[in-house]
Amino acid sequence: MPEAFTHTSLPGRIVLGPGSLDQVPDEADQLGISKVLLIATRSARDAADLLEVGLGDRFAGRIDEVRQHVPKERADQARAKASEVGATGLVAIGGGSAIGLAKAIALTSGLPIVAVPTTYAGSEMTPVWGETAEGEKTTGTDLVVLPKTVVYDPLLSRGLPLEVTAASVANAMAHCVEATWTPKADPITEVTAVEGVRALREGLLSVLAERTDLEARSNLLYGASLAGSALATAGTGLHHKLCHLLGGSYNLPHAETHAAVLPQVTRLNAGAVPRAKARLETALETDDLASGLFDLFAQAGVPTSLRELGLTEEQAREAAWKFAAKAPANPVPLDEDTVTEILLRAWAGERPT
Ligand code: NAD
Repeated sequence: MPEAFTHTSLPGRIVLGPGSLDQVPDEADQLGISKVLLIATRSARDAADLLEVGLGDRFAGRIDEVRQHVPKERADQARAKASEVGATGLVAIGGGSAIGLAKAIALTSGLPIVAVPTTYAGSEMTPVWGETAEGEKTTGTDLVVLPKTVVYDPLLSRGLPLEVTAASVANAMAHCVEATWTPKADPITEVTAVEGVRALREGLLSVLAERTDLEARSNLLYGASLAGSALATAGTGLHHKLCHLLGGSYNLPHAETHAAVLPQVTRLNAGAVPRAKARLETALETDDLASGLFDLFAQAGVPTSLRELGLTEEQAREAAWKFAAKAPANPVPLDEDTVTEILLRAWAGERPT
């Protein structure tokens, strides 16, 4: 018998398979979308061109300029464009940045989103939106931004460079691992998270051997989807909040920061969730979760130290001090010394022992 728990399942439809990009026009029809505003990362330009043709009369306009962390001026321009072209729905192709821009439009217009993710960030599975103004990122949760349909086409992520792939997988792994110890963790989310780690590991190892392996790319999208839904139901805790502070205050790259920080936070927290720890270790085929994650990231070539990402030791200490003042709920009590230890270990890239 599991402990008493509360779990809220989120609505959504998932289509996964090679060539599923072709199904986007039908999926838009099923949502009653007659005029589509297409939002595409530059790297997904060819797929967006194909989709533009496939949408035929339903195509109303396109935005190709997508930036990380949804700058407010971009969001305002995108909202203006959506109303100018009379969009009745949005199709976003790309990573978390393209999907984030679609969410910004949906937040104020209520327009439905069809998401076609090409990275493993998982934003397509969450009702979380974010917008950046004057260096400050504001985030919130609203079901209106949760994509109605997610179309995962592994053909689109086949060309994702190995370093982007590996960092993005580390980001997805972080959603899964942290989902087991946040205050909103529950047994259903835990099962999702464990299966996510299993699929992500398997996919990553296969992609390292053959970058364009289609089955591996499918496995990674499947794992990323599970990771995104684990993040959506469990929310964030110490790990994600530390990464957001590092990204926001020191401009560290989003996905790579996760790879450096996750093994160190896991070293602290995993002992507090023994059942999840054991299950995650089985999924990762390791006898120690923290060092198993570290070794996998190192094998995949993701930087495992914040130093490599450009942070100074002084900034790591400053971040610990800033963070400790408003530390979140955590299964292991947090004080400035504990946070400093995590960040100095992450800064130096020490293998957890
Ligand atoms: P991203 O969308 O910026 O993409 C990362 C890089 O990959 C970019 O350079 C992009 O051009 C490239 N790329 C994407 N698809 C490609 C492809 N098929 N082939 C070649 N290159 C490709 O970054 P991301 O890591 O996907 O997402 C990060 C953003 O998403 C951040 O702003 C983060 O805050 C947000 N995010 C939000 C949530 C949420 O729940 N709201 C969850 C995770 C991430």
